Amino acid sequence: MKKNDLIEVVIEDLGTNGEGIGKTGTFPLFVKDAVIGDRVVARLTKVKKNYAFARTEELLEASPFRVEPACPVSRQCGGCQIQPLRYDKQLEWKNKKVKGQLQRLGGFSEELIEEIMEEPLGSEKPFRYRNKMAIPFGRDKEGKLIAGFYAGRTHQIIPIRDCMLGQEVNAKILHLILSHMEKHGIEPYDEKRGKGLLRHALIRIGAHSGQIMVCLILNGEELPFAEELIESLSQIEGMASIMININKENTNVILGKRNKVLWGEDHIKDRLCGIEFAISPLSFYQVNPLQAERLYEKALSYAGLQGEEIVWDLYCGIGTISLCLAKKAKQVYGVEIVERAIEDARKNAEENQIDNAEFFVGAAEDVFTEAMEKRGEEVRPDVIVVDPPRKGCDQKLLDTMLRMQPEKIVYVSCDPATMARDMKFLCADGGYELKKGCCVDQFSQTVHTEAVCLLSNTHKEKELGV
Ligand code: SAH
Repeated sequence: MKKNDLIEVVIEDLGTNGEGIGKTGTFPLFVKDAVIGDRVVARLTKVKKNYAFARTEELLEASPFRVEPACPVSRQCGGCQIQPLRYDKQLEWKNKKVKGQLQRLGGFSEELIEEIMEEPLGSEKPFRYRNKMAIPFGRDKEGKLIAGFYAGRTHQIIPIRDCMLGQEVNAKILHLILSHMEKHGIEPYDEKRGKGLLRHALIRIGAHSGQIMVCLILNGEELPFAEELIESLSQIEGMASIMININKENTNVILGKRNKVLWGEDHIKDRLCGIEFAISPLSFYQVNPLQAERLYEKALSYAGLQGEEIVWDLYCGIGTISLCLAKKAKQVYGVEIVERAIEDARKNAEENQIDNAEFFVGAAEDVFTEAMEKRGEEVRPDVIVVDPPRKGCDQKLLDTMLRMQPEKIVYVSCDPATMARDMKFLCADGGYELKKGCCVDQFSQTVHTEAVCLLSNTHKEKELGV
């Protein structure tokens, strides 16, 4: 087998980046632009020892699960890797992926996984679910001003103002910003040269409140003729906050550390699980609030609180899960590394009159470990909820968790591979048992998968004679 060979193959699975996987004999091919059920002629693009990469040369027989992508640039953009696959099949694939990772990386048996995994919770709104978009500005080859998204793994901007995952109003906002730039000769930021002013527009919209925040990220301190843009943006229904964020670093981190309010508030409000939250540009907030509610409800039901428990919510963001837990627990402690998010969390607790939630700024592994060492029994958790970023929990945190022996650990994860790895440690080395799990789809059309699992302490169960 060599580069440019043409091979007929039936696609049976999808890889982690959404590419089709088919086999010729036992040799796997990773085929671009093919979905489960397709029969294609694939052209080999790179041949390795045990597998090869290929792209679809000809679609011989379209999969019954293939659908017309809703977005005209879905192929170039790379944000939605699996739009051509019918949504129920996307969900089925994600659920299977989580199960496979639990087995392969978590070391859990197939029987156990089949027994404990609940039906996946799919989204009722597989498009236009995102409440947040960060859209870069640039120029196309002809020099025309554009806004859009980076093409998969590159920094080339694919112009699109109305991404099908975001809200319709984004297009209008971008139109106003681009017109303003054109009128006043405001240059988009050019990463290569580190020059130009306007980097990104960060748009956030409260799903329940309808409040909108537009934050312009500048390689500079001021937006020329800002009053004019404010005048037009503020006419948009729901506009609640217009801000700038200053980022003069030559980096692909989107936001800088400093914000300035140009108009309205420095935050917007939204409601999740009946609790009102203030969201500022720098804080993390779930991007799919409708599915986040279902995820939190699931996490809450796994926590099974009776009202007497001490609960630690680690990686708590602006305290969304913490405050939901607080309604049912005796005391909740939340830990988060972003200071502004903790300020929001405290304000959120106060405004919702929740007084049994306390928040700490810092790395979960340090703050939690230190609290256990210094304050001991008084703050010892009955239940721990973790919701780490993709890289999973820090080893130091896992060690402290095992030392503290909470009855339950609820693991919320945006990367089931690292969750499986961490749970392997907690179960195989630590004596916890995987009791329940559920895949909750937060990111329809993309390969990203969110899941929640319940681990329970077998030592404690034995002590209590359960
Ligand atoms: N539970 C929250 C946020 C989850 S996202 C929610 O549902 O909204 C993960 C969060 O972990 C982010 O807010 C990130 O800032 C934070 N984080 C990353 N590393 C951390 C660490 N070492 N300790 C504490 N928080 C951390």
